[in-house]
Amino acid sequence: MSSYLKDLDYSVVQQCMHCGMCLPTCPTYMETKLERNSPRGRISLMRAIADSQLEAKKAFSDEMYFCLGCLACETACPAGVDYTQLFEMARAEVERSVGRQSVPRRLFRWLLLDVLFHEQWRLRLAGRFLWIYQALGLQTLVRCSGILKLFPKSLQGLEAKTPTIKRHFSPDLIAPEEFPGSRRTPGGGPSRGPATATSEAPRYRVGLLTGCVQDLIYSDVNRDTADVLLANGCTVITPPTQACCGSLHAHNGEYEMAKDYARRLLDHFDLDHLDVIITNAAGCGSHLKHFDRLLHDDPKYAAKAVQWSEKVKDISEWLVEIDFRAPEKSPTEARVTYHDACHLCHGQKITVQPRELLKKIPGLDNVPLTESMWCCGSAGIYNLIQPEMAGKLQQRKLDHIEATGATIVATGNPGCLLQIQNGLAARGVEIQAVHPVTLLAQAYRAEN
Ligand code: SF4
Ligand code: SF4
Repeated sequence: MSSYLKDLDYSVVQQCMHCGMCLPTCPTYMETKLERNSPRGRISLMRAIADSQLEAKKAFSDEMYFCLGCLACETACPAGVDYTQLFEMARAEVERSVGRQSVPRRLFRWLLLDVLFHEQWRLRLAGRFLWIYQALGLQTLVRCSGILKLFPKSLQGLEAKTPTIKRHFSPDLIAPEEFPGSRRTPGGGPSRGPATATSEAPRYRVGLLTGCVQDLIYSDVNRDTADVLLANGCTVITPPTQACCGSLHAHNGEYEMAKDYARRLLDHFDLDHLDVIITNAAGCGSHLKHFDRLLHDDPKYAAKAVQWSEKVKDISEWLVEIDFRAPEKSPTEARVTYHDACHLCHGQKITVQPRELLKKIPGLDNVPLTESMWCCGSAGIYNLIQPEMAGKLQQRKLDHIEATGATIVATGNPGCLLQIQNGLAARGVEIQAVHPVTLLAQAYRAEN
């Protein structure tokens, strides 16, 4: 391929009519007020490359990686600009150009995208080492010793963002196939107790995606998702060896790698015998729904990718679609607010369903969050590569959360959960950040 942007359908490249309606919704533009940091400015740069008036050099690269990929501009755009596609192609364009390939950057990307995420067992192994490091108190020791001050600020910042790894990963908590009413303890791991199951025969066969990072740091949310599905008459099929979906790769310019990851994931699911594929991670969901576009020219996988895209749903989307059962008991009496993950509200246009889910849980006082659709700064690995802007957005989000007086903030994406949890912990604020499905699972469990 000579150029991703030049090869892109020109109708996508030329769709912007420069009206500027997206500008007030763009977090980077609103911070800097610079046209080049706006969706309109970025699209102009992309078009200049497609028109051979510009080369993808450092300035272009910096701009594309300053963009959060939050897709707020896509929601605001009256012309229907497909920013998702433009953004992915622009970053792929950057990666195929030689200008940005410094050695440390290549090493970081190779380790992260090629090595760690390529095989789930590698990620789990790394997670296991990290868990031991944390469980033995070594992380606390290192943090208290002051030794981190000897390292560059960027590394100190990275260390502070290290997530807490779970003792048990998803295959320890969820059996490959579970039925409503089943009470097995899979993999010898601890039973967290399935939610109240329906006495009826299973109504749906559901494939559950357990994710990559999600599997290490929020495997409990995966168990909660399985429990909620079981409580609503679904048989849950969870291939234990399923691989990363490749959303991180697609959003970071590794388009060919993203295709490989999509093919591998398709191989793990028997779509003919599943009613739906469920994800509880907004960032993944928004990518998973585009497998049809990603693999449209693959003679072997194109048809299966279409079938896949038709069946992928976010957990909240699916629960509302099947008219999920309202729990009878309250898990807790609390004021709760909801943060819209960008890739759920902008990427998948899902805003009503998670709120509906929260409203049906007894005991929760739902209060609105100001700027709930404003990015929290997580944005995949954005908070690692653009810590300054990510930090500003995080603080803005936390200010709004605190102002609600809520003791719980719910959000449907692991990246947002981590970003908000880290921020709240750093502020020393006692507000819990949870996935909405966790609250629903807790409510069902309270019935037992
Ligand atoms: S994706 Fe987000 S940060 Fe990027 S141009 Fe659009 S609104 Fe701005
Ligand atoms: S709102 Fe849409 S058409 Fe208008 S400037 Fe932004 S991207 Fe272009």
